[in-house]
Amino acid sequence: MEYVALVDVYDQLAATDSNNEKRDILADLFADAGELLPRLVTLVRGRLWPAYDRAELGVSSSLTLEAILRATGAVESDVRDRWKETGDLGDAAAWAVDNGGQQTLFSQTLTVERVHDELRGLASYRGTGSQDRKIDTLAGLIADANSSEARYVVRTALGHMRVGIGEGTIRDAIANAFLDGSDEAIDTVERAFQVTTDFQTVAETARDGGSSGLNSLDVRTFRPVQVMLAEKAESLEEGIADAASDNRVLCEYKYDGFRIQIHVDGDEIRLFTRRLEEVTEQFPDVVQAVREGVSADRVVLDGELVGYSPESIATADRTPVVFQRLSRRIKRESDIEALAREIPVVVHLFDCLAIGELLLEAPASERLERLNETFETVQPSPDSLRAGLEQARSRWVTTNDLDPAESLYRDALDAGHEGLMLKNPNADYQPGRRVGRLLKLKPTMEPLDLVVSRAKYSEGRRSEWLGRLYLACYDPEADAFHEVGRLSTGYTDEELQKLTDRLEPLVRTREGRAVDLEHEVVLEIEYEEIQESSEYGSGFALRFPRFLGVREDLDPVDADTIDRVESLYDSQ
Ligand code: AMP
Repeated sequence: MEYVALVDVYDQLAATDSNNEKRDILADLFADAGELLPRLVTLVRGRLWPAYDRAELGVSSSLTLEAILRATGAVESDVRDRWKETGDLGDAAAWAVDNGGQQTLFSQTLTVERVHDELRGLASYRGTGSQDRKIDTLAGLIADANSSEARYVVRTALGHMRVGIGEGTIRDAIANAFLDGSDEAIDTVERAFQVTTDFQTVAETARDGGSSGLNSLDVRTFRPVQVMLAEKAESLEEGIADAASDNRVLCEYKYDGFRIQIHVDGDEIRLFTRRLEEVTEQFPDVVQAVREGVSADRVVLDGELVGYSPESIATADRTPVVFQRLSRRIKRESDIEALAREIPVVVHLFDCLAIGELLLEAPASERLERLNETFETVQPSPDSLRAGLEQARSRWVTTNDLDPAESLYRDALDAGHEGLMLKNPNADYQPGRRVGRLLKLKPTMEPLDLVVSRAKYSEGRRSEWLGRLYLACYDPEADAFHEVGRLSTGYTDEELQKLTDRLEPLVRTREGRAVDLEHEVVLEIEYEEIQESSEYGSGFALRFPRFLGVREDLDPVDADTIDRVESLYDSQ
């Protein structure tokens, strides 16, 4: 397929705000895709791998700029000006192709296969000279591209397509292309995606096997399952009443670490985060603990990985470290073992998603029993590079006696954890869903997780940095973000520098010293009070917001919701 045909689809998608139109455009593309279907399913969102696979191209904006200059002969300052003006290096590339002055004599027509395969190939370039090879490959594609093609080659390389396609649109397009497009068909596609995290497999299965093929897709080890999400309980009483089944509720410590999904198949062990990123290499200590503690052959376990201070890890009163400190372990690429000793961890297991067979539909109480059959407690030993492995602390509670729940809640907070999880013992595991089967209870006026929507450069000493950040909460119904305040304190110079580096590539438009941003970065924010205010789109304003940290583990749609802000306001 000629790449220009896909570019035409991108342009059509970008030209409409209607999700139904986008769905129909994609459904037509998928229905006629033939053997290109798997590639097109990911390419339409600017991805080159299925969602469960977090392979990285390792292409930065500066490398891309270099490739544009090499391919087009354009003057760097001109291309930079274009880039600044539109906030999009793709647009700048399109301009450079038309105005760069370099004529390619032997231009070849670009095909979808070539763009896909060559861009994917970039991920495998490693070591000395790899940057230069990446620039060459990318420049080769741009040199053979017309201006519209260059725009999307660059956007795909950078992973920002600007055509407004979410997972929901892909799901609906598959349901329309290969099934009857009904609500039931959409649900079938959705479940298949949650279980496989792979639209390529889902699309091909829908085409070749219809609904029954999709229904028989199963959790596979080494393909992370979307995790079940929790809703907030407003109080212990309400939470227990909501989560109870036959008057019983399972109360567990809510730990403050990050979600970890452990896949074991024979001798192989792999670890994934809540965003389905693989972190096996970063946690050799956890792999060791799983090797020692898990007896079953093919299992998928769900738990929370928590960092503790090295002095306390072997004691009965372990002191958890803040999330920001633990997150150093996720990002670390070298000296992993030294950091594992510096920030030792314990995995607190709380669910079993598969053991030989899939358990998603089994009730929570049964999954917990199966969990306990699969592993034995492992004591942490940082010196021998072994993490701890244990069951999350829990207690069964009945609705007519809340005392045990209260005391567990107090114990959890005293021990430095976040609160309690309240679990319905009869509930099945709903991947990727926030349904009322899993409730979380934390003290009110807790920090909020908010998305940075706009920013301004600071004045004075910090004038090079984006120091004034506008914060927005999420509105799931409208799939939109509403601002709730402006942040200008709480960060160190180093944090501000890092934040600026993180935010600048997300600039959509600039006006003077103000920038509009892609909704991507989630911050954890502390504040004193929520007030009503007409200043912000949400109708509320945070009083004295302070920066606590970046929540790299959260997607923008995981940010706190407008409903949550409103109910916190009501509860003050
Ligand atoms: P939140 O991130 O505030 O929505 O809370 C839900 C998260 O709490 C889950 O995604 C887990 O990472 C974490 N968590 C901590 N302890 C537990 C537990 N015992 N059961 C389930 N989730 C837990």
